[in-house]
Amino acid sequence: MKKLFYFACFLLLSFSISQAQIIRCATYELHKQRMENDAQYRAYYANIGQQMHAWQTQSAQERTSGLGTIVIPVVVHVLWNTAEQNISDAQILSEITVLNEDYSGNNGNRTQVPTGFQSRFGNGNINFCMATRTPAGDWTTGIERKQTSTTSYNYGDPTIKDANSGGLNAWDRSKYLNIWVVNLSCCLLGYTEMPGGPANTDGTVILYSAFGRGTGPLIAHYNLGRTATHEIGHWLGLFHVWGDDGCACSGPDYIDDTPNQACCTYGSPAFPVIDGCAHFKDDDSIPGDPVNGIMFMNYLDYSDDASMSMFTVDQVAVMRGYFNAGQFRASILTSNGCATPNGIAEINAATYIDLYPNPANNIVNINFRLPTATVLTVTAFDMLGKKLMTSEVHKTGEQNINLDVSSLQAGLYMLVVNTDQGNIAKHFAITR
Ligand SMILES: [Zn+2]
Repeated sequence: MKKLFYFACFLLLSFSISQAQIIRCATYELHKQRMENDAQYRAYYANIGQQMHAWQTQSAQERTSGLGTIVIPVVVHVLWNTAEQNISDAQILSEITVLNEDYSGNNGNRTQVPTGFQSRFGNGNINFCMATRTPAGDWTTGIERKQTSTTSYNYGDPTIKDANSGGLNAWDRSKYLNIWVVNLSCCLLGYTEMPGGPANTDGTVILYSAFGRGTGPLIAHYNLGRTATHEIGHWLGLFHVWGDDGCACSGPDYIDDTPNQACCTYGSPAFPVIDGCAHFKDDDSIPGDPVNGIMFMNYLDYSDDASMSMFTVDQVAVMRGYFNAGQFRASILTSNGCATPNGIAEINAATYIDLYPNPANNIVNINFRLPTATVLTVTAFDMLGKKLMTSEVHKTGEQNINLDVSSLQAGLYMLVVNTDQGNIAKHFAITR
């Protein structure tokens, strides 16, 4: 624990016992270790400040129009020891919902962004999808589960990501964001490999009780899914807003539109918070920071989930910069991780099939249009590939089928629609 507390923010010690026990993130510690021990990694970061500055000074058009909406296929590896740690599909999907909100500027609490920071609110225009194809091309729910004899994992434990040691291997990082959900040793919420690290450890590791929103064994203050929002910001190259300098006011986050900040923030402070260095001229020279104080509501601070509400425009520029041609995450743009799996041919372009609501409760509506009369077979599978129900109909034109799923348990399912014009598979979730 001594090592863990070495990098913990000093402010940590001044808060209540329950909050002081939490260490939100160990990403910077991992980054520091790589900088010390890995020459290739060190070389990657030698000019990172200049690179990040270049992305932030790109034109607005270059930042957004060229890449459009970025879609990141996600695989979630659940390593569980107790039943509680084997979190539900619904809890996992709730986290994907949070990520899609936070990374597209659609978070419900964006109204909390103080007036003085509203012009800096960044819309990432990044979406996350649960993988539908494994690296081998087979269909998947995007969730892997494995029971482990390890009761809790220390930060950086290599067995988490090694199937031969009881863990679950990373999927090809050029196509997937790997998320391991495990029981981390008290009291760490998560840590991430920043760009430039090894392929077999690429991704983020998150405490099972700080992953998701609204369902499952979530812990107070960290139950709105913002641990993953924060950690994936690291996966896309962002540093902490206070600069990881132990409150010295000198450490950079290399982001122009975040105010200079001494320490990390725990809890849910009232705005504004003027700290010991906020009154100095910011590294960004943007006026107004003394009035607005520090940006404790930034996802790359340590505030409670409910207090976090924004990335900045320049943080978005950096995250998206990593997808530019030749950059570290560029290959994700051509990933087929969320494409139709092998054995499921794309259906005729004149045909569409839509499932709603998703998640569903008792009825899944299957809306479709077929250009010619056809035999349509609808089959639902559970995540282990077990056939649950099937129905055959003869349809043409625009139609709607109501599939009664009231007998199915809450979870993630795959619906495969076979027609004589082709087949298609879609995920749907059931909540209870
Ligand atoms: Zn962090």
